[in-house]
Amino acid sequence: KPLVFSGVQPTGNLHLGNYLGAIRKFVALQENNDCIYCVVDLHSITAQLVHDDLPGQIRSIAAAFVASGIDPEKHIVFNQSAVPQHAELAWIFNCVARIGWMNRMTQFKDKAGKDRENASLGLLAYPSLMAADILVYRATHVPVGDDQKQHLELTRDIAQKFNIDFMEHIRARGYGVDIVVGEEPIHAYFPPVEPLIGGPAPRVMSLRDGTKKMSKSDPSDLSRINLMDDPETIAKKIRKAKTDPDALPSEVEGLKGRPEAENLVGIYAALADRTKDAILAEFGGQQFSVFKPALIDLAVDVLAPITGEMRRLMDDTAHIDAILRNGGERARARAEKTMREVREIIGFLQ
Ligand code: ATP
Ligand code: MG
Repeated sequence: KPLVFSGVQPTGNLHLGNYLGAIRKFVALQENNDCIYCVVDLHSITAQLVHDDLPGQIRSIAAAFVASGIDPEKHIVFNQSAVPQHAELAWIFNCVARIGWMNRMTQFKDKAGKDRENASLGLLAYPSLMAADILVYRATHVPVGDDQKQHLELTRDIAQKFNIDFMEHIRARGYGVDIVVGEEPIHAYFPPVEPLIGGPAPRVMSLRDGTKKMSKSDPSDLSRINLMDDPETIAKKIRKAKTDPDALPSEVEGLKGRPEAENLVGIYAALADRTKDAILAEFGGQQFSVFKPALIDLAVDVLAPITGEMRRLMDDTAHIDAILRNGGERARARAEKTMREVREIIGFLQ
């Protein structure tokens, strides 16, 4: 079975973008794959070092995974810091990756802002840790939102450079397989990683600004629909969502240059599991005063059961902690197997 890995940071309120772009795909992939889903707590201290309630944040992501339908017994749910092999491999990847590769990352530029000299070194090295998260299990498929595409390309570059630089060692120790990456046949220890970005909502935009992605770390709570929002809050946020004054077009072409309209139609389509064309066939020619109430009803219908289950799970911290502990043990055993081989390939005594 293909091995799937993905992670979500415990950096605040999970939102509709996380759900549609990532978590819903995690759920769907369980059927035909072996899945490892991680609360990436080591990543969460890169942009902001101190969090008021990190244990609560970590538990809430785990609760969202389970409430959305992830089975922590058939698959693995755990928090990253419980498996120190992630950080160990990330260090090695810090020595594989080049500073220039990191400097080109748009997420680093966005999150570091103007004062780049003052960003943490961890924020710059974030993609190296992300590559380690995936490759410490030698996972091949990674469901993420569109914003992570560049990081996954970098993961491929890191794997490729490790494979090529250590090719003789990999072969001499009897590890790795012959593969072709691009045109080049190589003897590879780490597999090339495939991003799974598709789906109807690979990039959900902010409700306040159709050119910015919906984010946990956006200071405006009105910019996003949180998985823990109650129906009144969801209704208020959608009513206040920025739009233009025109009616909805009857074809997708008509959404060009109307980012806010396109975003709301995309959200509706994703929540309803229908195409944007089908939604516009139904609502084309209608005003937002008609479309928004329909979107509110749909969003509440889809999210209310998840919110209810998340609340129930979060009241039972012992249960969530047991899930994370059990997942951590299973993840650690797998990650340590890779690390023993990697240490041997590099030449560290152990
Ligand atoms: P932060 O602002 O702290 O980075 P975030 O909202 O970007 O938070 P992450 O934990 O970084 O959330 O990402 C978790 C997953 O959700 C990733 O796969 C990411 O690609 C996906 N994701 C995040 N935002 C969106 C969005 N607006 N639309 C679709 N997918 C998204
Ligand atoms: Mg993010």
